[in-house]
Order: sequence, then C-alpha cells, then structure tokens
Amino acid sequence: MAATMQVAAVKQFGSPLVFEEWNVPSPGPNQILIKTEACGVCHTDLHAAKGEWPIKPTLPFIPGHEAIGTVTAVGASVTTVKEGDRVGVPWLYSACGHCEYCLSSWETVCPDAQFGGYTKNGGFAEYLLADPNYVAHVPNGLSSIEAAPLICAGLTTYKGIKETEARPGEWVAISGVGGLGHLAVQYAKAMGLLVCAVDIDDGKLDHAKRLGADLVFNAKAGDPAAALKKETGGGAHGVLITAPSLIAFKQGIGMTRKRGTCVLVGLPPGEFPVPLFDIVANCISIRGSFVGNRKDMAEALSFAADGKVKADIELQPLSAVNRIFERLEHGDVPARVVLDLTA
Ligand code: NAD
Ligand code: ZN
Ligand code: ZN
Repeated sequence: MAATMQVAAVKQFGSPLVFEEWNVPSPGPNQILIKTEACGVCHTDLHAAKGEWPIKPTLPFIPGHEAIGTVTAVGASVTTVKEGDRVGVPWLYSACGHCEYCLSSWETVCPDAQFGGYTKNGGFAEYLLADPNYVAHVPNGLSSIEAAPLICAGLTTYKGIKETEARPGEWVAISGVGGLGHLAVQYAKAMGLLVCAVDIDDGKLDHAKRLGADLVFNAKAGDPAAALKKETGGGAHGVLITAPSLIAFKQGIGMTRKRGTCVLVGLPPGEFPVPLFDIVANCISIRGSFVGNRKDMAEALSFAADGKVKADIELQPLSAVNRIFERLEHGDVPARVVLDLTA
C-alpha cells in the first residue's frame, strides 16, 4: 500500500482549504521528493485559493511556495541534488532552460515556467515533488523555518529593489510592510538605501521603524505622495509596491521622483489609473517584477546567512491555515506566518 501524507488542498475557489490524506508522490527520473519541514504562507496563496488571477490553477491543488525540507528520494537521472540535502521549493518551480528568457537569466518569464503551489502542488503538505534544477539551496547557517519566507518574500523584494535601480544613499519607498515589505525594508537598508515605509496599519509602521526605516507614512491618513516629496526633496528614486491594494499603486506612482522607477510586485486583481501626463513629463518608469532568478535567490539567501536580514516569523501548524488566510485577508498578520510541518 502507498504511503500517505497530510495535505491542505484547494478543492473549490473561494472555499476553505480541505485537509486530506493523499498518496505520497514518487519522483520521476528528473524529479526529487522532499519531506517538508516548514512552509511560509504568502498572500499569493490567498489569491490562488480564491482563483483571483486571469490564469487559474487546475483544481484540486496544494498551495505553498515557501517550502523548505530535506530530500528523501531522487529520480534516476538526478545528479545535482542528493538525499539528505536541504532545499527550498519556490514559486519558480521549473522552466524550459532554452528559450530566449531562460538563456538570458529571465527564467521567471519563461513561457513554459511552472509555478509551485499553483500549476504544481506546493508545500502545504508533508511531502512535495520538485525539479532539482530550480530548487533553492539553503545555507547551513539558516534553519528551515528561517529560510522559508526568504524564498518568495525575500527573493521578490530583494530583486524588486534591484529593479528600482536606486543607488546607495538614494531613497526607496516600500508600500506595504507585511510579509514582503518587512523584508524589503531590511534588504533596502542592507543595500545602503534610505527607506520610507508606507502602510495603512500603525503597528506595521512601528515594525518598519524598528527594522530601520528612516521615514514612515500611514496611507490611511491620506495620500503620502506630497509629504514624502517634501521630506525627500522630490520623491523616492525607487518605489516598491507590495501592497495587495489598487490604491497603493496609484499612490506609488505619485511617490516616484522624476526619472525614478516604480516597481510593481503586489498582485491584487484589477487595474489602476495611470496619470499619463505625470509619467511622460517626469520621465518615470513603471516596471513589473516577478520573484527572481536562481542567482537572485542565492544572493537573497546569503544576506540572511550573513545576518543582515531576518524574517519575523509566527509559527503555526498546518491545521491553522484557514484561520491564517482570514487574518491575511484582513491585514492581521504582523509579518510572516510559517507552517511548521514537523509539529
Ligand atoms: P501581506 O498581506 O503579508 O502584506 C500586505 C501589506 O500591505 C500589509 O501590511 C497591509 O497592511 C498593507 N497594505 C494593504 N493595503 C495597503 C495600502 N492601501 N497602502 C499601503 N499598504 C497597504 O502580503 P504579502 O505576502 O506581503 O504579499 C503582498 C502582495 O505581493 C500580494 O498581492 C502577493 O500576491 C504579491 N506577491 C508578488 C510576488 C511577485 O513576484 N511579484 C511575489 C510574492 C507576493
Ligand atoms: Zn509568494
Ligand atoms: Zn524558458
């Protein structure tokens, strides 16, 4: 009889996850099997479970793309990963390896890319399969729990800040100081930037200050663009929007300095108005950014291994995942929840 595992699966969009026993999958020749130790809960998992984006996963599926665990079996053709290695299974689950994007380190936009916890089953389960060519290699100094939020929230914000092209000593504004944003503040400080944090929750802003933010604004009190422009002498050179809220995108454009870059990473469904005259007349760039490539992953992890970045983590068992989704929806998660699959 096949071994079974506990999973939390989405069986219907917009309904609570269902706890079930599934068969433990067996790795194909080019796959590895991982025993999950920890998996972060990203706001993306919530968008996925609600089926909010234009491209939807096929039901049923297991969310979770911040999974860290130990390799327990490897397929016959696998040479780069061995049993006992500790790896992370990220959002970029696999890519083709030979299209124009893969060849230029942009595997994140490969047309054949697969996504962990979306088009492939993810880490809200005791075991998961992975492609050994795309797993994150976890530095020894980091525990599985510490590493989990870094392989999506950390990677995405580190890459997003690089994409703003802001230089040391310049201003970067981080809009949304949740799971992604609290890491963004730390990466930005470690990269020598001046940081302005924007959220709609004073607790999150106090957290941002403790993490080193030089300025904070509560966007509930009104559009922070004018005040930020005054304080920074013209606006932020780089803006990173992590907030899952459309109003934050409009405000983010307003916070951007002339010739600055506003990087969009938050993914609320929908569209937002772009003030065309301001963009054109101020030579502002608006740029989407989607997780990061494998080199970005190694760099993002090494900041943490060097002690420069540390995720603030609340540990919960897998059985708490529906309650965590409700809290995420209402902005009630202070930073990042990590599911402890060994609990
Ligand atoms: P989260 O819920 O942990 O944090 C969101 C934060 O935004 C909270 O602190 C909330 O208070 C704040 N916020 C809400 N409305 C706001 C507003 N109007 N102005 C300023 N702040 C506001 O979510 P998360 O896990 O950090 O994910 C954030 C978003 O990033 C989600 O949409 C997720 O899908 C997306 N995401 C994108 C990528 C990518 O590669 N582009 C990767 C991971 C996550
Ligand atoms: Zn994520
Ligand atoms: Zn490709």
